[in-house]
Amino acid sequence: MHSLIFENAFTSQLPADPQTGSARRQIRNAMYSRVAPTPVAAPSLLHYSNGAAKLLGLSSEDCQSDTFLQVFAGNHQLEGMDPHATCYGGHQFGNWAGQLGDGRAINLGEVKTADGHLMLQLKGAGETPYSRTADGLAVLRSSLREYVCSEAMFHLSVPTTRALSLVSTGEQVMRDMLYDGHPALEPGAVVCRVSSCFVRFGHLQMLTARQETDLLANFVDFIIEREFPAIAQSYSDPRERYLAWFDEVCQRTVALVVHWMRVGFVHGVMNTDNLSILGETIDYGPYGWLEGFDPDWTPNTTDAGQRRYRYGQQPGVAQWNLLQLANSIYPLIEEAKPLEEALGRFSTSYEARWQRMMANKLGLPEFDNGLNERLLSLLQETETDMTLFYRHLANVKNAEIDAELLRDAYYTPQSISRDLQTQTKRWLQDYLAAARLQGQGDEPRATLMNRTNPLYVPRNYLAQLAIDDAEQGNLARLNQWMRVLEQPYTLQDGMDEYAAKRPEWARNRSGCSTLSCSS
Ligand code: AMP
Ligand code: MG
Repeated sequence: MHSLIFENAFTSQLPADPQTGSARRQIRNAMYSRVAPTPVAAPSLLHYSNGAAKLLGLSSEDCQSDTFLQVFAGNHQLEGMDPHATCYGGHQFGNWAGQLGDGRAINLGEVKTADGHLMLQLKGAGETPYSRTADGLAVLRSSLREYVCSEAMFHLSVPTTRALSLVSTGEQVMRDMLYDGHPALEPGAVVCRVSSCFVRFGHLQMLTARQETDLLANFVDFIIEREFPAIAQSYSDPRERYLAWFDEVCQRTVALVVHWMRVGFVHGVMNTDNLSILGETIDYGPYGWLEGFDPDWTPNTTDAGQRRYRYGQQPGVAQWNLLQLANSIYPLIEEAKPLEEALGRFSTSYEARWQRMMANKLGLPEFDNGLNERLLSLLQETETDMTLFYRHLANVKNAEIDAELLRDAYYTPQSISRDLQTQTKRWLQDYLAAARLQGQGDEPRATLMNRTNPLYVPRNYLAQLAIDDAEQGNLARLNQWMRVLEQPYTLQDGMDEYAAKRPEWARNRSGCSTLSCSS
């Protein structure tokens, strides 16, 4: 742990709220408030990520030490740490919500690493000035979900914040899990998240809403210098720099959402305060993974009516969020046209990248629109597990078209009409004909597909099983699952249960398919 050297550029270069502590307040002309984590009674380390530890230069001995546990439970601070919570606002479900801020996240400090810097952030470590009416805490079930999914996303090659540790606090937290008037005590936990920076669109929005334009300019300069050095070097004119930066954020967001669509991830709460300016997946709450392919599906019961954040709407919502980001930097540009152009490039770039990605999912060198559309509608009509379907499709051979290979991907194979079976067979024939026409043999097709389509994704029901066990003090499943998720594209012997489609018992069990925001 002695190897951690803290730089803390955020707190040393940006203005602080003069008041410290967690009394609730609105802050002005400041980016953050200093506040320490609240110590917990009986912390215990449930898991740590070797991969995230390595990024920080921490050894496994470091991670198994008592100091590590105390630090990442929030009980102890290392020399050089500068704990603080940051101020941001945001649009929640389309409506401006004013000041939100890190209500239960506390940045401990920025570690200097071999190739840059990484901020350590505790989630669920107690109250901050931004906790509003809530307690600043997190429960084990939501913390485990965030911990597992962050690391799984990394191994899936999806940009994401990382997770270093999952610690149970030994304390109980009151939550009304279904928001139905039945609050109950649940075990508390703290996750340490890791990213080079945790700045959200909402940080900039908040400054603009308060008309703090000078601070806005300083803050964007800071972000560009620190997180986008190539842009800082290429543009000396501030306005050009800001525009190049905005364009880059748009393009990173395109890349991010295309990845989400590829792996079937539904974020669930794409509010502007939950979008990172780095284009990383951030704030894992009531997220979910497509099981039966359905563009209208959302895991978030709080969004069940409007379904604003459903799978198929994620690109559109991302662009809407970028429009809010554009509005927030408008005072630095004072001209709408170049911002609109960047937003327009979002659409063209999204379409191009999405087509490339969909072609890769089918293992084809070229995107075939007709083939693709027919497939997506078939997948939807037959309640087909998206993840398993593409993996099984990779095994279908040109010489012998065997639709039976796909059977395991269907949730209710017995209910598939003769007509749909015929259409599926026709589609398979046309698909393989397209592969032949494009000169793509079975083997390279399967290789490309199995590189693009993961086999193991952190399905909600699997998370629930790991949570049930962890709440009973049994970590075997979590440990094994984390190992499986390190190689999501590789078939692993004896690990079929982690690739299995949702069993019927999990279809309507809370936490297994859908979730509320309660966490
Ligand atoms: P979310 O949409 O869940 O990312 O959170 C929206 C806002 O509510 C953020 O400002 C969070 O920090 C805050 N928040 C969520 N849960 C809690 C909690 N238990 N205590 C304090 N603040 C919270
Ligand atoms: Mg959030």
